[in-house]
Amino acid sequence: MVDLKNQIQISVVIPLFNEEESLPELCEWIRKVMDEHGFVYEIILIDDGSSDNSWQVVKTLSAGNSSIKGIKLRRNYGKSAALNRGFEKVQGKVVITMDADLQDSPDEIPELYKMITEEGYDLVSGWKKKRYDSRLTKNLPSKIYNSVTKRMSGVKLHDMNCGLKAYRREVVKAIEVYGEMHRYIPVIAKWAGFRNIGEKVVVHRKRQYGVTKFGWERFINGFLDLISIMFVSRFGRKPMHLFGTLGSLLFAIGFLIAGYLAYAKFFLAEYKMTDRPLFYLGLLAMVLGTQLFLTGFLGEMISRSASDRNHYLVEEEL
Ligand code: UDP
Ligand code: MG
Repeated sequence: MVDLKNQIQISVVIPLFNEEESLPELCEWIRKVMDEHGFVYEIILIDDGSSDNSWQVVKTLSAGNSSIKGIKLRRNYGKSAALNRGFEKVQGKVVITMDADLQDSPDEIPELYKMITEEGYDLVSGWKKKRYDSRLTKNLPSKIYNSVTKRMSGVKLHDMNCGLKAYRREVVKAIEVYGEMHRYIPVIAKWAGFRNIGEKVVVHRKRQYGVTKFGWERFINGFLDLISIMFVSRFGRKPMHLFGTLGSLLFAIGFLIAGYLAYAKFFLAEYKMTDRPLFYLGLLAMVLGTQLFLTGFLGEMISRSASDRNHYLVEEEL
């Protein structure tokens, strides 16, 4: 018997939240592209707790095309959760994610597929070189965001958060996307050990129906998320290396200060120790140093009992 799982070449994962108007057009467009190129495909539509008719539309579409599958989440968990759920389900060798709002063009799929299968990329991110979003609230902040992320993470992409991306299946099976981490999937993939990350200039279009689901809060949340993934990936498994070093250093500084003050009191007999501002600095440094050290210690205990403490990705084994 032929294993159907291995036959699917492309899985298209589409998270959606209140996008009823766009879905029929989008799925029809994808089907057309797939049929033209003779791809065996599946489309996974993840309804992220929509309050409009999206799920009805998904059901109708799925009934009309056996390649279309739907998942309905019980409430709105956010784009990351929707993507993550989709990634659990995918079977195709190549996984393409795209937004449901018709801003990303399915015509890019064949080329992205080729980049993964023939050019050896693990992940290819779309680059909306010419963007059709409002200049002030999206384009400018996005430039700043991209350059900060590039510098902090070392992943050199022009457009980290483009919804249109292609992955080798192993990548999406290896990573976990939660919170608002969908913005940093390339960073997460790089840290999981997938080095061949590329980008492709893609056509971007105006939102055809409905409204954007991300407001200004995305700047604050996005920045905090970047800091946490940087931290988790660098020190998540060895918190003592950060907190222990800082703590010991601070404690040592405090101790030296206290030593010097004690020396000055007994041998130079000039001051009452507590009259000198330096005394408080030394005290503070010792207290903070101890606390940081203990934080590292607690972190170490937590990471020791974390269920993924011995989770490695093996690339090859002979
Ligand atoms: N989305 C989602 N859950 C959410 C918010 C958004 O699944 O909580 C989907 C949304 O339906 C769309 C994609 O994520 O398919 C990108 O959202 P949007 O187009 O609003 O973002 P923008 O293009 O404005 O950055
Ligand atoms: Mg959009």
